[in-house]
Amino acid sequence: MNAIRYILLISLLALFAITASAQAPRAKNIIVMVADGWCFNHIEAADYYQHGELGKQIYEREFTLYPMSTFSVNGSYDPAQGSNYDYLLKGATDSAAAATTMSSGVKTLNGAIGMGPDNQPVEHAIEVAEKAGKATGVVTSVQWSHATPAGFTAHDRSRGQYEIIAQQMVNDSGCEVIMGAGNPDYDNEGQPIKRKHVKKVEGSKPDNSYRFVGGEKMWKALKAGKAGGDCDGDGKPDHWKMFQSKKDVQKLMEGKTPKRVLVTVEASETLQVSRKGIDDKREDDPPFQAPLLSNVPTLPEMALAAINVLDEDPDGFYLMIEGGAVDWASHANATGRMIEEMIDYNAAVEAVVGWVNKNSSWEETLVVVTGDHECGFLLGPGSKPELKPIVNNGKGNMPGFEFHYKSHTNQLIPCFVKGAGSDLFAGAAKNEDPKRGKYIDNTDIGLIAKKLIQP
Ligand SMILES: [Zn+2]
Repeated sequence: MNAIRYILLISLLALFAITASAQAPRAKNIIVMVADGWCFNHIEAADYYQHGELGKQIYEREFTLYPMSTFSVNGSYDPAQGSNYDYLLKGATDSAAAATTMSSGVKTLNGAIGMGPDNQPVEHAIEVAEKAGKATGVVTSVQWSHATPAGFTAHDRSRGQYEIIAQQMVNDSGCEVIMGAGNPDYDNEGQPIKRKHVKKVEGSKPDNSYRFVGGEKMWKALKAGKAGGDCDGDGKPDHWKMFQSKKDVQKLMEGKTPKRVLVTVEASETLQVSRKGIDDKREDDPPFQAPLLSNVPTLPEMALAAINVLDEDPDGFYLMIEGGAVDWASHANATGRMIEEMIDYNAAVEAVVGWVNKNSSWEETLVVVTGDHECGFLLGPGSKPELKPIVNNGKGNMPGFEFHYKSHTNQLIPCFVKGAGSDLFAGAAKNEDPKRGKYIDNTDIGLIAKKLIQP
């Protein structure tokens, strides 16, 4: 009798295990979109400027919102202090630690790229995706070896090691897509740089302008289509095909594409944020007053081109898309440029959602729309020490807001999720904030992504 009951119990447990594993949530595709430096007020300012009212962005309308803490390994966030002006100014993460954490699920030190607090490499979600046979990539509006794309693909103790990081991304990562700025042959106006051939003098400093693309030698190899390691495990190198022009990126948005695509756009630091202002005071420029660089693609164009390369893999893909210059505009306290960058990022989210609706489904694709930390302490006018709301001045007019800081703050930031496995975020929202409600931590993005794509 007992033996029979035992066997029955075991078979029931086995059956339960089988059904449980069959029902474990999975995602074929994961797209993580990072608006570097954003917070609730950045979205509100863009909402008022673009639409004259709040809640109009596609992620505000169709996604589930979780507030998210972002502090790095030696930091913390105290919900009781969430409206305290002075408290929020201290203890913020940087983009390297935040990216590493959202990629790996491991909190680390500021400045670290894909390394834990013990200075040992952590496993990126992209590396898990590669093991699962998926295609992978990173896209940004700043240099492609900058902290956020690096923090999803490379391993180094210091984000400042651009040359080494760029080499790792090109030679060691299994990525099929890398896109961003950092072109050593162009300036911030999108104009070709004319280099004089100067004889190298003994002891002179090496040319620094190639560091974002892995050094002068690697840049030559990329241009010749001869750079890149083995990305599919057959022991043979898989060379990158590099593109630079806006037209080439637009062509990549449709039809057949090369297997590995590296885009270094025709601009030095960023897509648009580093271009000259009217009267050379770009911090005060209203949005779109200075003409945009016409030879540089937009973030939505790059996003769709990246997806078109990656979606040829039947196993699915993992893609990180960064609106990196939201942070640059916020550091500079450049109000108009911040609005421009938010509009470009919002358009990229629209493009990605459109792709899921048309070419995939929310049952197989997870989209995460978030940031990495707040930047600029963006608040309504007259906010110190009270945190006042942004003021609506109607569609097409600059809303009333002020930057209160030149760097990052420790506020909870928004994380919007939709699609495959997005229910897991509800279970992760364990802490309670009096102002924002139940919130997740930036580790949850890495942990959940890895769970959803593990082989
Ligand atoms: Zn920053």
